[in-house]
Amino acid sequence: MVPFPENPEAFTETIAELTERYLNPGLAKVLRFAGLGVEWYAEGAYIWDAQGRKFLDFLGGYGMFALGHRHPKVVEAVKRQLDLMPMPSKIMFNAPQAKLAEKLAQLLPGAIECTFFCNSGAEAVEGAIKLARKATGRVKIISTIGSYHGKTLGSLSASGREVYRKPFEPLLPGFVHVPYGDADAVAAHLDEHTAAVIVEPIQGEGGIRVPPDDYLPRLRELCDRYNAVLIVDEVQTGLGRTGKLWGVEHSGVQPDVVTLAKSLGGGVMPIGSFSATPKLWEEMFGENPLLHTSTFGGNELACAAGLAALEVIEQEGLVENARHIGAKLLHGLRQVQAEYPDFIQEVRGRGLMIGVEFHEADYGELTITNMIQRGVIAAYTLNNPKVIRMEPPLIITERDAEFALQVFAESVAVARELVQAVLA
Ligand code: PMP
Repeated sequence: MVPFPENPEAFTETIAELTERYLNPGLAKVLRFAGLGVEWYAEGAYIWDAQGRKFLDFLGGYGMFALGHRHPKVVEAVKRQLDLMPMPSKIMFNAPQAKLAEKLAQLLPGAIECTFFCNSGAEAVEGAIKLARKATGRVKIISTIGSYHGKTLGSLSASGREVYRKPFEPLLPGFVHVPYGDADAVAAHLDEHTAAVIVEPIQGEGGIRVPPDDYLPRLRELCDRYNAVLIVDEVQTGLGRTGKLWGVEHSGVQPDVVTLAKSLGGGVMPIGSFSATPKLWEEMFGENPLLHTSTFGGNELACAAGLAALEVIEQEGLVENARHIGAKLLHGLRQVQAEYPDFIQEVRGRGLMIGVEFHEADYGELTITNMIQRGVIAAYTLNNPKVIRMEPPLIITERDAEFALQVFAESVAVARELVQAVLA
């Protein structure tokens, strides 16, 4: 392990001050308040801060660390590529990119075969929106309230939370937001002017919301009826997080476009992608192969990481592990909920994408602070502060899950006592 800094307290204070002055004063205050230090070293499901404190990572970088931190096979693949050619010339064939596209084509649902690589989830959504508009020649896109598709202007136009949207309006025209999980609401807006419906198989930042079983099948039918494109945003749910390789697999639905990011980089490199059927691809790139491009997109380092990540997911049975540990965790969390129904409203989710909804956002915040003090990192969902998310690496063991459960139960008990003392 790389040695810890010599004077960790002073080092931590300096980094906090730099963050406050040069990066984000508000965020620095929040991190200080939560007693968080400087991240220094990470391995598997664990992170150590500069003071040598060890944390079980139950946030998983918003769901990015499916393989945990620094998975040796991904690190090795990236190091190998680093000595060959890390960044693309953009003028020659690119082997890691081509191989990763082939691998994804084998894994993606239905007839989806072709992929464009970018650098983040938001960029993946940008591309999907452009593709839907180009392929259909239509403008209108139906999205959902509470959805999270990114914060760049195009993806933000799809995202469904006012607090992030309002300050930047007017956003892209033609976006309609309807309640999530409500196919009738989509039916009421879908028409011959609609380019696409964009939807998360489980709303992640919206509070880990699982839709009714017939929701995605009905959206599929509706899109077929009007020849609209069904974009499934798998940025958070993709690659095993929900206990199946794709979130959409739980419903058996075959989308037209899939967006991906987070886990695709194996927790080592940033990468995003959008993929579609050959027919849609022809509509997008048929006339002009440079219609959509990115300098960094498809770079060798990121694609080497992606290839290694997909191999690890298969070889190590991470999808099955997510399903197996996820079911145990869900059960354990529901037992805690049953003990404190006045404090916790609901526990829900699939695989290792689990949300715990508190009656008040403050209850969740207090619980998170207590969990961090006890060595488990957790956080709330960005569009729903009442919900703590449990999105640990898919490599976690039963022992890790038991430890997290025990810490969660203790933290809830302490937080609830504190709330009762304040209210008394
Ligand atoms: N789509 C979904 C479903 C997401 O959860 C996120 C990120 N939480 C994004 C898109 C945006 O990804 P990024 O932060 O990489 O831009």
